[in-house]
Amino acid sequence: MIKDNIIQVENNIKNACKRAGRKPEDVTLIAVSKTKPVSMLTQAYESGCRHFGENKVQELVEKYEAMPKDIKWHMIGHLQRNKVKYIVDKVYLIHSVDSVRLAEEISKEALKKQLKVSVLVEVNVAEEESKFGISTKEAADLITEISKFPGISIKGLMTIAPYVENAEENRQYFMRLRQLSVDIMNKNIDNVSMDILSMGMTGDYQTAVEEGASYVRVGTGIFGEREYSHSQADRIGD
Ligand SMILES: *Cc1c(COP(=O)(O)O)cnc(C)c1O
Repeated sequence: MIKDNIIQVENNIKNACKRAGRKPEDVTLIAVSKTKPVSMLTQAYESGCRHFGENKVQELVEKYEAMPKDIKWHMIGHLQRNKVKYIVDKVYLIHSVDSVRLAEEISKEALKKQLKVSVLVEVNVAEEESKFGISTKEAADLITEISKFPGISIKGLMTIAPYVENAEENRQYFMRLRQLSVDIMNKNIDNVSMDILSMGMTGDYQTAVEEGASYVRVGTGIFGEREYSHSQADRIGD
């Protein structure tokens, strides 16, 4: 079942790439496995998934210990500063940097372990009050400020679009995130690349791919509904 879902999602990504004139290799599927047991992650792994996304530190650490070591772990949820130390050496990419203080803490903990941690800046493009992330207007200043921290490397932007029935409604936000990444790239800030756009979830990843997503984060579409699936707390990762 999980295997069939993955095949379906990957096919949808391929077709969206075709519509947009993009190469499928330029889009990576992140299997969002939050709340799901290791047995289900193992099925996804055996079906070829190597990128997994979690939104809670403890859950990420537990699954990191239990799963094969060639997995690339993505921290996609809101991250508290006091928990950064538990994951800096386990994550491939942190998607949810939205403050100077958090970026500084990640840098500090990374340097202690002689690492450089790749991060994305989370932008609340739709300006939903319930969501984390900085506004589009604040993004360039925040990125300029945190680009000087030696323990992080800024790779791009992430957004969580609103929960909508019709994915077309979110196209505007994906377009805006892409435009913002181009604007920031053109500023040529040291230590900043804008190669990654993390956008699109089960309900809207095909639209996100059409608009330039390089990572899509799909949970329900692979693993089925979560127990508290569309609750706000679940979506924002708290
Ligand atoms: C839960 C979550 C997802 C996956 O959501 P689905 O709608 O189940 O695909 C993606 N991104 C973030 C940040 C999440 O918290």
